[in-house]
Amino acid sequence: MFEMPLPPSPGALEHSSIDLMNSEVHLPGGKSYDALNTPKETTTWLIARGLVSEGAVLQSYCQDRLTGLRSDLRKAFEARISGSTVDPRVLNNINAALTAAPNTSLLHYAPGDGFFRSLEHPATRLIEHAMSVIAEDAAALLAGDEAHLLAQCEAEPCSRFLLKTHGRRQWCSTRCGDRVRAARSYARKRTQADPTLI
Ligand SMILES: [Zn+2]
Repeated sequence: MFEMPLPPSPGALEHSSIDLMNSEVHLPGGKSYDALNTPKETTTWLIARGLVSEGAVLQSYCQDRLTGLRSDLRKAFEARISGSTVDPRVLNNINAALTAAPNTSLLHYAPGDGFFRSLEHPATRLIEHAMSVIAEDAAALLAGDEAHLLAQCEAEPCSRFLLKTHGRRQWCSTRCGDRVRAARSYARKRTQADPTLI
């Protein structure tokens, strides 16, 4: 089972779009971890989040489509955070994901159990459905009341996305915060030891 090196960032458990963007992690020393590295890992990631049902089997084109959405979402969120304009192609791609599969639970009836609702999609549309759910979450976040809380971890090279639920939070995790604090304290000690480094 794939193990992420960092715990979920603030907001990632509530928002599948943040979760998707953070499915690739960069750490110092050129290390990176990608939870969507293979079709099998992509399937495991989607099942763990209830975005496809247990036993689903996805192919490499599904993996490519999901990592493509991840890349488009990052561009859109980066534009929101930095205040820059977004490429219309990125918007088109996100809108295509939004509308590729209806994101509505249908009404069912089973004798004995009565009425119940569930999302049902043909096996060939599994990835479209998962992408539409994630794109819906992204659209609601980017255009909603919490958009000003979006941020990226400032502990380079991490840059994972987060919601600033604690005022001035700058890091996605205590591990990244500790790393930055340790680096700052090291830099301070070095300049104290050798003032010519300032
Ligand atoms: Zn971080």
